[in-house]
Amino acid sequence: MTIKSTPPRPPADDPAAARVIPRAQHPISRKKIAPNAVKILYRLKNHGFLAYLAGGAVRDLLLGRDPADFDIVTDATPRQIKRLFRNSRIIGRRFRLVHIYFYQNGRPTPQLYEIATFRRPFAPEQDDPEIRDQTQANNLFGTPAEDARRRDFTINALFYNIADFSVIDYVNGLEDLDNRVIRIIGDPDRRFAEDPVRVLRALEFACRLDFTIEEQTARALTQAAPALKEIPPARMREELKGFYAKKNTAAVLAAGRKFAVNRHWLPDTITDRLDRSLPLLRQAESFFPTADNDRELERMVLSVLLLPAMLESYPPGAEIRLNLIQEKIDELLKPLNQCFNLPRVQRYAIRDIFTIFYRLGRGDKRIKLLLKRENFFSALFLYAAVAPGLPPQAANLSFWERRRERLNRHPGAQGRDYGALLTAAK
Ligand code: ATP
Ligand code: MG
Repeated sequence: MTIKSTPPRPPADDPAAARVIPRAQHPISRKKIAPNAVKILYRLKNHGFLAYLAGGAVRDLLLGRDPADFDIVTDATPRQIKRLFRNSRIIGRRFRLVHIYFYQNGRPTPQLYEIATFRRPFAPEQDDPEIRDQTQANNLFGTPAEDARRRDFTINALFYNIADFSVIDYVNGLEDLDNRVIRIIGDPDRRFAEDPVRVLRALEFACRLDFTIEEQTARALTQAAPALKEIPPARMREELKGFYAKKNTAAVLAAGRKFAVNRHWLPDTITDRLDRSLPLLRQAESFFPTADNDRELERMVLSVLLLPAMLESYPPGAEIRLNLIQEKIDELLKPLNQCFNLPRVQRYAIRDIFTIFYRLGRGDKRIKLLLKRENFFSALFLYAAVAPGLPPQAANLSFWERRRERLNRHPGAQGRDYGALLTAAK
């Protein structure tokens, strides 16, 4: 008698709904998973818990991309996880997660791993930050299938099971991955209303992965966009940071224009002038290094977005009065600040960038002093980008060409060839 081996299944609540793809039929290899993530998965599994890799990591591995991080889900509770890992900390009040740290030469490595317990779909009545009672908190936990369905898009809801190296798909994510489609899980209107930030996430994934947005998802996201106004500015700023850290801001804004969502999350002064700022934003995103200095990138991106409105009021020239420039920037920063709650240091920096920009445009004699300013290079970038339109006495390119070497050696230049940028702008 032969025993037919059946593919292992997730234990479960609704096993019929899951598609399990055995190791031989998908490309995810343990070698591609960060060794520390593999260690965590095995430790959980060896103690009898389910241990799945989840979210963006599974998606990216299936696409042959390098995952940004490795999120893990399990049926162990935060306390049980904490007991298993000495190097861990429970975070969060409502839904508790565990962060695991690793050390190298006595210092924590920058990569930390997040382990979550399977959770149920979002339930607004439970969304109370004051829930401390453990039994209530435990009601947030769920089954693997529930955990998959409370996620945002089908391609983000796949699991990789360390027990048998299979991929588990409760939401037809694999099919959407094959067809390169962003599809929200469940009822589109309800899911976007539940968390309007998903509107921007849909656009960001579509741009980053070069996927199309499925029809019902696209329709619903345009309809849900006005609710972006209700999202707290701090969360919107985090979202924006995610865009420019991936050099994706220009692409997301272009997609946002196509789907008519931009005016619900950006000031009109910016959305009305995107056709002028977007080409420059693309340049800025390719010229400035990523992530290593996201503060600089934020200043740069926001300054580029404000630039067309500034130029409309004040084209750079010899006669520009700086106090008028300051007033205008403050006026433009106000609505921007309402959207993103920018820290003071960033508002000052943007003001500084424009001040230097207009001083460059004036052909100021004291430019050597400006060179020492932290934001000089951002201002120079803007200046170079619009220099062809400047009056000749202000452009003064020979001045810059003579200083090219010095400019590029400046620590703030970080290896970028500003001299070349200026010459190209000529
Ligand atoms: P990235 O490469 O940007 O990290 P990601 O898919 O890992 O992409 P994260 O923001 O790190 O995105 O979130 C991890 C996972 O958590 C997502 O893949 C998704 O399953 C789930 N998720 C994140 N944000 C939401 C949200 N707003 N609503 C529902 N599920 C979400
Ligand atoms: Mg992630």
